Amino acid sequence: MLKKHSIRFSAALLAALAAFVGGPNAAPRAAQQHPDQAPGFYRLKVGDLEVTALFDGTGVFDPHWLNGTTAAMNGVQQALHDDPHLLDVADTGFLVNTGKQRILVDAGAGGWWGGGAFGRLVRSLRSAGYTPEDVNIVLVTHLHADHVGGLTTEDGKRVFPHADVYVAKAESDFWLSPDIAARAPEDAQPFFQSAQAIAAPYITAGKWHTFSGSERLVDGMELVPLSGHTPGHTGYEFASRGQKVLFWGDIVHALRVQLQRPEVTATFDIDQSAAAATRHQLLTRLAPEDVLIAGPHMNFPALGRLHKDGNGYGWAPVVFTDRWNTAPLSPQK
Ligand SMILES: [Zn+2]
Repeated sequence: MLKKHSIRFSAALLAALAAFVGGPNAAPRAAQQHPDQAPGFYRLKVGDLEVTALFDGTGVFDPHWLNGTTAAMNGVQQALHDDPHLLDVADTGFLVNTGKQRILVDAGAGGWWGGGAFGRLVRSLRSAGYTPEDVNIVLVTHLHADHVGGLTTEDGKRVFPHADVYVAKAESDFWLSPDIAARAPEDAQPFFQSAQAIAAPYITAGKWHTFSGSERLVDGMELVPLSGHTPGHTGYEFASRGQKVLFWGDIVHALRVQLQRPEVTATFDIDQSAAAATRHQLLTRLAPEDVLIAGPHMNFPALGRLHKDGNGYGWAPVVFTDRWNTAPLSPQK
């Protein structure tokens, strides 16, 4: 009896071992693949500020959305042939925790843009340890739905119920005007409709505010007018302890095209020549400065620094680290 038991035990053990180590007679196990990533956030310190990039989604910029000379556009087609990922873009919002206030800069697309590719910002925010109720202030660079769609559900409810939203008066006046919308071409109508629907519940709640000049909305933060892409397109530059971060909105859509050729514009730019001129001026100013740049459409974490590179500019992306401050490595233990 004892012997029979031990034989049975040994057979079971061998079978288990075979399955575990995968011997020559073991049945192949299905190697299940996992398509999902963890919801994305990435944070770093800028002086005393905690800045968290909040992943909203990724997509591919259509080359026909770029405008430039024939030579420039032929160059894009050739570069795209060599590297099919040339025009990969992201959508990103950013949370600035000043210690007193939690300020969201751009809110991702929600369900208003991108056919389901975007809209993950709130999940990313929760993963980073915050809730939508924690957000006190939202600063929006402009009213295109890939930057403000995340503010409002598709059935018209505020996603950030305690937040006051700030936008340039020129921006608000343009997109929320029924008269301007009525005169705009057919293909521009969705931009007006989404801006109006997204703004509506904040206007009703008295939470929609506009600024027209250099008002001080937040201590240590400067408004940076960047009109061209849209009439009131605005950057927000925060400084703390000698360090700076600039949230530049849509100064660049296609990183690897428009930094080398700042004159290439996007079809969404309301004023093409003003958009190119604004980009030129800003890149010229930023290249020699040590300013961290937060660009919603840069590849995640959408943070980096600019430098001069040949006739154009280069981008040095922030690289993942799990430490606030990186120091040179020491070979010692
Ligand atoms: Zn955009």
